[in-house]
Amino acid sequence: MARYTQAVCRLCRREGQKLYLKGARCYGPKCAWEKRQVPPGHGSGGTQGGKKGRQVKPSDYALQLRAKQKCRRIYGVLETQFRRYIREAQRERGVTGEALLQHLERRLDNVVYRSGFAPSRSAARQVVRHRHFAVNGRIVDIPSFSVRQGDVVEVRANSRAKKPFSEAKESGPGAQVPPWLEADWSQFRITVKGIPTRDQIETDVNEALIVEYYAR
Ligand code: SF4
Repeated sequence: MARYTQAVCRLCRREGQKLYLKGARCYGPKCAWEKRQVPPGHGSGGTQGGKKGRQVKPSDYALQLRAKQKCRRIYGVLETQFRRYIREAQRERGVTGEALLQHLERRLDNVVYRSGFAPSRSAARQVVRHRHFAVNGRIVDIPSFSVRQGDVVEVRANSRAKKPFSEAKESGPGAQVPPWLEADWSQFRITVKGIPTRDQIETDVNEALIVEYYAR
């Protein structure tokens, strides 16, 4: 399965904010964004506009592009799959931007991350790929698997003693579990209580700009 394999901290520098792609490191002094708050390729202090000190007002297209790229990077989704999500969202009733975020939130890797069973979405993707999770009793090793209301996601019995899960169980969920999910740490179980509404999705993106980008 294709995935982004370059240094991820440069993505935060490109988007001009922390995207929290590396788990605990993002919250400590080793965070690359805390050390160098300039875009990649501009390490000597230049600006995105080119000449040092020159500010260029971004075009509508540039704003839409950045919103789309930021969202894609937060969820770790490549362009082809992201485009598929937006097409599906456009076919559905309701607000397209919200439907897009719902598709992204329902990914199995995101559910594992949001429930605190992995410190980042990339770590969640790895534990899913390594067949540590089952959905409704069946092993699922596809990070993009889309959960539905009522699904039960569990750490498989043979995997529960493994370090990431046993440690996580002792320390409890590091992040607050969103209301559309229920995490039972004693049973290594996540229950999908419903499909998240926009106000239950904490992702800091402007989905309207993303929809405009693909409507061009
Ligand atoms: Fe971004 Fe985390 Fe890297 Fe900081 S440590 S730059 S928040 S990925």
